[in-house]
Amino acid sequence: MKAIEEETDTEMEQKESRLSPPPPHVLIFPLPLQGPVNSLLKLAELLCIGGLHVTFLVTDHINRRNSKIHSHFSRYPGFYLDTISDGLPEDHPRTADTFMEIFDSLENTTKPLFKEMLRRKSTDDYEHVRPPVNCVIGDGILGFTIEVARELGIPIICTRTISPCFLWLVFCLPKLFEAGELPFDDDDLDVPIKSVPGMEGFLRRRDLPSFCRAGDLTDPNLRLYLSEINLSPRADGLILNSFEELEGPLLSHIRTLCPNLYTIGPLHAHLNYKLSTETSSRSSNFRDEEDRSCLSWLNAQPEKSVIYVSFGSIVVLTIEQMTEFRQGLVNSGHRFLWVIRDDAITGGGGGGWLREEKSSRGYIVGWAPQEEVLSHPSVGGFLTHSGWNSTLESIYEGKPMLCWPYFVDQQLNSRFVGEVWKLGLDMKDTRDRFQVEKMVREIMSDKFNRCSDQMARLARQSIEEDGSSSRDLNRLIQDIKAMTINHN
Ligand code: UDP
Repeated sequence: MKAIEEETDTEMEQKESRLSPPPPHVLIFPLPLQGPVNSLLKLAELLCIGGLHVTFLVTDHINRRNSKIHSHFSRYPGFYLDTISDGLPEDHPRTADTFMEIFDSLENTTKPLFKEMLRRKSTDDYEHVRPPVNCVIGDGILGFTIEVARELGIPIICTRTISPCFLWLVFCLPKLFEAGELPFDDDDLDVPIKSVPGMEGFLRRRDLPSFCRAGDLTDPNLRLYLSEINLSPRADGLILNSFEELEGPLLSHIRTLCPNLYTIGPLHAHLNYKLSTETSSRSSNFRDEEDRSCLSWLNAQPEKSVIYVSFGSIVVLTIEQMTEFRQGLVNSGHRFLWVIRDDAITGGGGGGWLREEKSSRGYIVGWAPQEEVLSHPSVGGFLTHSGWNSTLESIYEGKPMLCWPYFVDQQLNSRFVGEVWKLGLDMKDTRDRFQVEKMVREIMSDKFNRCSDQMARLARQSIEEDGSSSRDLNRLIQDIKAMTINHN
């Protein structure tokens, strides 16, 4: 009798599974650079916690440098890590100064591979193991993810890991050309730019991305961003790593073009909040060469006495620039913790020549656990390249920023930090040791603490239960579930 009952139950389960739609399965394709990968891994984990299946697609190169992804995500049975070629030789530097080579190769080599892969993954019989992919989340700058998903009839949500203020500026580039504000070919970078709604009054030529300074309409960087203007609004939604209280007015402008906006940041903190309330664990760092010895060094330093220095994962500096920063830091009299990657110096080379700093007031590592560093009580300020992830991580921890922007959104982010949010100083286009020394002293004074604490509080509230980012994340998960039911 028992055997008959069991057989009946199994039969019923099989029947039900044939009738019920497969679970929502999202494929996330980040721009294959460390910053975007880091932030979309946080999104992937948030979606796994929300009960979705997630395939995370990285290039072979990113996979080789982040071997911890697999073990970290083994706790989520619905998470899969897949790889794809970026078409570049392994010894290609993939640093900021070769940005367009990466994009060309992604377009020429990765796009056809992606199309074939997605076609296979989205069919019912995909490997008979995983449910078929029924939604794509692609980086908006990889326009081909939108084209391919549309062609295959799969719902597509765009995401951007740059700052929303920059995205709005990109959307307004045609207005700048119409108004004659672009291109310009004289050297006066302090001329105000007036035709970006929401940025009148503080935007200058100097704050535009560096590719606007070339005065060249055929500049490939410019063309790359212009192509995004038509593609992103064609997606079913747009996910941004920011929070309403930080950029509300600009988000309203973006909604005029992309009405279905999900602002769910700061992503790293949002994930940590969910993990601490639901599993009492913390998110992980994935890069292999992380040097945690700096945390012990920080433990031995007085409160708010250290300035943390990092120019992110792809910026390269000349040896002369490095020297000016070093002298300025040393002359400021403040302690410093400095990340100098192995590939941080133009033409190759890392911080070996500076290692002796370890014994004095400075400490140098090749890669730091940045989130933990910024949350450390000994850190009182952050000398940053103003990458968007670094900016949000610093805002969340209430650490004032000294900004030395390099490219893409960084010129604008640093203007917002200095002029709009009053969370630090913008030192763009200056780099001599005296400026560095003076500005480090100013950042390490208590001048910016009140604004920084206030914004950090708003950031925290946004990710807590019923905060603006928390509500948008819930809506995103519900929308993906609804989209995939309709798609099936
Ligand atoms: N990062 C890190 N350790 C380091 C330097 C950077 O963990 O030593 C992380 C940092 O926390 C951030 C990312 O790398 O999440 C850098 O992204 P960002 O957008 O700031 O700049 P990008 O590297 O894309 O220029």
